[in-house]
Amino acid sequence: MLKYYNYDIVCQEIPDEITLAINITGCPNHCLGCHSPWLWKDIGEPLNKKSMHSIIDKYASDITCICFMGGDQMPKEIEQLAELVRTTWPSLKTAWYSGRNKLPDGFGYALFNFVKTGPYIESLGGLRSSKTNQRLYKISSEGLLQKIIFHT
Ligand code: SF4
Repeated sequence: MLKYYNYDIVCQEIPDEITLAINITGCPNHCLGCHSPWLWKDIGEPLNKKSMHSIIDKYASDITCICFMGGDQMPKEIEQLAELVRTTWPSLKTAWYSGRNKLPDGFGYALFNFVKTGPYIESLGGLRSSKTNQRLYKISSEGLLQKIIFHT
């Protein structure tokens, strides 16, 4: 079962979106220099249909996107939660921040508007670094991935 530690409304994770970012625990990636090592632990509250309603119903009119931060240990559950967002709050976009270089075979890209891939590598920096190994993609309605570049 996926669990979450907390959530926050942010404007920087997904360009041009007001994003409710849900921080998922139990991260299996253990990147050196991780900014949030407490997310490695299997702690927090279950992230399921009930908790999604209790989180999103409060903010649905103030946000434009839901981003799942983590959840590489259970990608199918991430897809199911994205599908829940799609069907319950159809005006909201969906995003997934994975820490893996490659998403699982058969991944349901059609359920997402954005995906970010790649572990955090301290010497290369995050998405805003020109050296970064991480990638953020916008997914078109035809399923095409368009790379979003933050740095100049
Ligand atoms: S994927 Fe994110 S939360 Fe997980 S170890 Fe890497 S930086 Fe930390």
